[in-house]
Order: sequence, then C-alpha cells, then structure tokens
Amino acid sequence: REGAEQFAFQAEVSRLMDIIINSLYSNKDIFLRELISNASDALDKIRFLSLTDKSQLGEGDNTKLEIKIWLDPESKVLYIRDRGIGMTKEELIKNLGTIAKSGTSAFLEQMQKGGDMNLIGQFGVGFYSVYLVADYVEVVSKHNDDKQYIWGSTADGSFTISEDTENEDLGRGTLIKMHLKAEAQEYATEAKLRELVQRYSEFINFPIYLQTEKEVDVPVEAEEAKEEEKEEEAAEEEEEDEEEGAEDAEEETKEEEPKATRKEKRKEWDLLNDNKAIWLRKPADVTDEEYQKFYKAVSKDFGEALTYTHFRAEGDVEFRSILYIPGTAPFDFYDKYYEKAQQGLKLYVRRVFISDDMKELIPKYLSFVKGIVDSDTLPLNVSREMLQQEAALKTIKKKIIRKVLDMIRKMAEAEVKCKAMEEAGETENKPSEKECGQYGKFFEQFGRALKLGIIEDTANRNRLAKLLRFNTSKSEDKLTSLDEYIKRMKDGQKSIYYLAGSSKEEVANSPFVEQLLRKGYEVIYFTEVLDEYVMAHLQDYEDIKFENASKEDLKLADEKEKKKDKELKDQFKDLTKWWKKVLEDSRLTGVKVSSRLTTTPCVVVTGKYGNTANMERIMRTQAF
Ligand code: ADP
Ligand code: MG
Repeated sequence: REGAEQFAFQAEVSRLMDIIINSLYSNKDIFLRELISNASDALDKIRFLSLTDKSQLGEGDNTKLEIKIWLDPESKVLYIRDRGIGMTKEELIKNLGTIAKSGTSAFLEQMQKGGDMNLIGQFGVGFYSVYLVADYVEVVSKHNDDKQYIWGSTADGSFTISEDTENEDLGRGTLIKMHLKAEAQEYATEAKLRELVQRYSEFINFPIYLQTEKEVDVPVEAEEAKEEEKEEEAAEEEEEDEEEGAEDAEEETKEEEPKATRKEKRKEWDLLNDNKAIWLRKPADVTDEEYQKFYKAVSKDFGEALTYTHFRAEGDVEFRSILYIPGTAPFDFYDKYYEKAQQGLKLYVRRVFISDDMKELIPKYLSFVKGIVDSDTLPLNVSREMLQQEAALKTIKKKIIRKVLDMIRKMAEAEVKCKAMEEAGETENKPSEKECGQYGKFFEQFGRALKLGIIEDTANRNRLAKLLRFNTSKSEDKLTSLDEYIKRMKDGQKSIYYLAGSSKEEVANSPFVEQLLRKGYEVIYFTEVLDEYVMAHLQDYEDIKFENASKEDLKLADEKEKKKDKELKDQFKDLTKWWKKVLEDSRLTGVKVSSRLTTTPCVVVTGKYGNTANMERIMRTQAF
C-alpha cells in the first residue's frame, strides 16, 4: 500500500507467529473462538464507556452492539466485524505486535514442552491464532478518537499500518479480513462457520450474525405485485373498515391458481445465539454440561472445572453469581504473587459487563476462582473509580469468600467421608469416585493458595487451617489434616509439633525430632517454602498451640526428667563453660545441656526469637 508504515514485530511475537503459521496443529477451529472473544471484549468496553458518556456510543448503526461474520467464497476471504471500541493507530501498533508481553514467552515455553495450542487464549496472545487459518490478515479499525486504519501482515516478521482509504467507513469498531490458506479451505463454507460459531458463541452476550445465502422462490411478477400492494395499502388507509372482507376474498382466489416462480439467491443475516445470560436461569434448569461449557467460555480454560456453585444472594445487596474452581491452577498463579496485577471475576451490573479485574470482589489468594457476579444493587452509571468505593462490594466479597470456602470444604468433607468408609469397608451411599478424588486434586493445585490465605485472611484463618493437608511422622505417605492429628494426640500432649525443612527425608531424619518421635509424639513435616511463613501466622488451631521442633524453648520433659536434666547440667557445667569460651568469637549465643536428642551428640538450634535455619535458607534464596 502506498504510504504504509512498516513495523517489526517484537522478536518473541514474531517467533510465536512463525510457530503458528507453520503449525500442523489439527484443531485450527480455535481461531474463531479467539476472534469472537476479542470482538465481545471490545463491545463490552464501548458499552461500559457509554454508561458514563452516552455520546461514545454514537447513533444509528453505531449503536448496534453486534458481531457479524461473512464469507467471500470466490476470493476465499473470511470477515468478522464488531461494533466494539475499535483501536486507534497507536493501539493497533501496541496491541497487535510490538509490546513485550510476558504471556508470549510463557506460551512459547508451553508449546516447546508439547503444550496444546488450545491454551493460547489464556496467555493473552489469542489474536495470533488467526494465522492458523490465514496467511495474510488485515485488521481495519476505527476508534472514536482516531481515523480509520488498516493493519496488515503476512506473518513475515513485520506488519504495516496505513490510513484506510479503500474500505467502507466502519463508523466504529473492527473488521478482520482473513485470506484463508490453501489448507484451510474448510472454513470457506457456511456450514462449517455455522457449526463453529454456534459452538463458541453460546455464551457471548451480544448477537452474532452469520451471513447466509438462501435460495428462495420468488414469484415471477413479484415486482409488479409489490407495486400493487403499495397502492392497495394507500387505499386501505382511507376506507379501512369496508375493505377487510373484500381483501380476504381476494387472497383466497390467489391461492387457487399457482403462480410462476423462479429461484433466487438471497443473502440474509442469521442470528446464531440467543445471548440469554445463563446465570439468570434457575439452577435446576441448567445442565452440568451447560455449566461446564459456560466455564470454558468465561475462563478460557479448555479443561473442565473441578466444581462450581450457582446462587442468588438476597438482602441489602442483591446479586447472582456462578463460581468455578478450575481443574488446574493458572500457569503463572504463584509467580511473582505479590507483585502482579490480580485477576478477578467478571462483574456485571444489571447484565452489563463492567470489569474483570476488580480486586474488590475476591481476595488475592482466591483469585484462581473463575466466574461471574451480576448485581442489581450496584449503580450502573458511575465510573470505575467510584464503583470501587461502593460499600456493597464489601458485602459481595464477603459472601463470595464464604461460598468459595464452602465449595472447598464440601470437597474436603467428601474425601474424609470416602476415607472413613473405605477403612470401614462400607459401600452404601458412598460418594462417587470423582467426588472422592476431588479434594486431592484440588489441594495439589491450590494447597499453596490456601496457605497464602492463612497469611492474608485473618478472619478465615481457622477455616483455612482446617483445609490444610501435610505429611507427618505418622502419615509419611498419605496426606493428613490437623483434625486427624488432634485425634491421634497422646494423653497430656499440649502442643501440635512441626518441623519445616526442604524435604520430607531431611525433616524426618533431623536431630530436632528425635526426642519427640522417641516419646511417641507425632510431628508434622512441612516441606514447602511457604510453610514456615504460614506457621508464623498460625499460632494455634482449636486452642492447641503449635510448637516448632527446632526452637530453643521446646519443653518436653516431665518432673522426673527435669530432675535428671538438672543433674546433667551440673555434671557438664565445666564442659559448657569451656565450650562457650572456645566459641566466643562465633555467632553462637549460648551452649546448653539438652534432653531433646537421643542419638545425635549435639545440635545447633535457633533462639526463641530468631529465624529458624530453614527460614534463613528461604530468605537467602527468596524463592517465592
Ligand atoms: P487478549 O484478548 O487476551 O488481550 P489477544 O491476542 O486476543 O489477547 O488480543 C490482543 C489485544 O488486541 C486485545 O487485548 C485488544 O486490546 C486488542 N484487540 C484484539 N481484537 C480486538 C477487537 N476486535 N477490537 C478491539 N481491540 C481488539
Ligand atoms: Mg483475546
């Protein structure tokens, strides 16, 4: 194009496009889902803007918040067009090619490990999947604040941008033109497109139209007949009452003699979705399959949700919600946990999408939960900043936390029940295999999130602690819970003992636990980096104190032993003194005779108020 500016893709984007365009990946269908999802996002954005500034929506056709898809069978070009927010020139450059996105490299990494292309949407690079089916793509876009531009690329490492002088005036929104590859000709048929759109658009909240060509029978004199009708209508207006009977008679005679017709191809817009929000339906009327399909639509996950809940909250603050726990944690959920922006639920106010990154809706440690919240109580025509101040959000958040923790608790309870029944050999009314295994899967993926919750969410600390699972000296291979630990506690045992370290073996063989084990106490083995931080926040559980086996003030002795200790202390007084003197220049704060060891001669322990060795190790590596 004359006067087009050329830009280089950022290196990683270019690599990603190479992989996509040369991909032999068979499920190319996903490109349409990604484009529809982008169109829907763009429509959400303009609708949201128009809440506070009506002029943004424009008038006439511009107010039609819809998506249209059509095909030119001759040139094999596929079109998708939305009346969304559009992109300015600057945004075209930024969004479709040059900016460094952490998602790109993360996705590439996954692909190298043999990951599925299907995941692309989760990495924020879904647009590029268009190169699975097209070798040349043009994006025509018009934003309210700019002129209409064309972005174009053949995925050769660069793209061009020019002011658009050749296409129809879009008014506002985006038109994507896909020049289909030779091996993607299957997408040049209406039937295929209809199937795909129906599959992917079911839960899109905007109407999606597909242009279809229909063969219709047209009477040969159709044109003349139309003219006549018009004249009749004009006459009718004047003498309506009298005419009615006569008209009926006329129609009857028309039916009697068949008229000559000819076949004509007509283009029509077929509405492919009924875009009724699933959360407005009664839970009893929604099937499990529909819930799972909706999950895939809101989460961009292509696996199934582990579990979900659909409820309606009443009272001062009214809202409806569907919440899902994914089967796997988002790929970067635990990375740079405290630094990065938080994902959120999709917030709607009276069916209008508002935002999907409002951290006021759900706490960070539960932000892996996917789903929607639709409230009738929140005000619709306020800015985002004002909305964030709404007191109602606090109430919603509280209810959501409770609902999520309930979902998790139910899975945990099913597991406990299954275990107990297995041990007792009972089978009647036993939860299904799936239900029995759910909590194990959940904890594997989200156990760390629960631990982060113990640090973050003081109000729910005990509830979260109940959900923890770990190995102990009495349960080395199977995970166990605090409740089970308490059931096994010895008579007179006053504390829950634990030791943290880098592996189960290290902790189990540690001199710190020797004495405890010899006396028959159970010791919890914490082996995750996070565990010791968690324990710093968790002082007790069900009024029983936690005690760290590696701390100086661990008190295990009974009266008889205390007396013996005293004797030993006296006996070794000189040795202790000598030792202290020898180690004077070291960082040791004391030398003591201890009863905590059985076979190990001596051990270096942490002071009561100091960091444990394990904590020192963690702080040195800053592993999370
Ligand atoms: P994601 O949708 O996860 O952000 P994509 O690769 O699908 O990632 O899209 C990249 C960006 O390009 C979007 O975030 C959006 O800003 C912009 N974009 C893509 N398609 C459209 C569209 N139809 N209308 C407006 N902006 C779009
Ligand atoms: Mg997208």
